[in-house]
Amino acid sequence: MYYPEPISKLIDSFTKLPGIGPKTAVRLAFFVLNMKEDDVLDFAKSLVSAKRELTHCTVCGHITDQDPCAICQDETRDSSLICVVQDPKDVIAMEKMKDFSGRYHVLHGAISPMDGIGPEDINVPSLLNRLKDEEVEELILATNPNIEGEATAMYISRLVKPSGIHITRIAHGLPMGGDLEYADEVTLSKALEGRREL
Ligand SMILES: [Zn+2]
Repeated sequence: MYYPEPISKLIDSFTKLPGIGPKTAVRLAFFVLNMKEDDVLDFAKSLVSAKRELTHCTVCGHITDQDPCAICQDETRDSSLICVVQDPKDVIAMEKMKDFSGRYHVLHGAISPMDGIGPEDINVPSLLNRLKDEEVEELILATNPNIEGEATAMYISRLVKPSGIHITRIAHGLPMGGDLEYADEVTLSKALEGRREL
């Protein structure tokens, strides 16, 4: 054991974060030791409250501290348009772009038979219920441009198409194999503008 236990525990915690290797974890742990106690307390509190106070919107599945979320409650938004994304971070990317005035549905994943993830394991059933209850005219499938995202878009498209709702898929400019959340605003805006009918 090189480090006193409280430090090695802190190092272990940092190692659990994505993109943090052992060396970075050590550097961060020692950085925290040198921080002012108040700042450390604030940091710890925001970790806990982000986890405790956030929930998933029962309508759209986005992360929120109020249910329904602010987007679902906003009556100025176009309720005839739903953009389906895989991850809450995709909603944030779309909102930053400021070009989209409809609502969202967050799947929390994509269909992936290889990993044993079927439509029932992600927010597809709640989407279908929404389409029954709400007057939706267009469903924009903005799942990631990779195999799982495409498979998910095709699946939803086949299921919903008979109902007569327009189904479109964002397409242009997004690199295949990429993640929606990493697209820059211009690319994302073009992709939305260039959506095609499925
Ligand atoms: Zn919502």
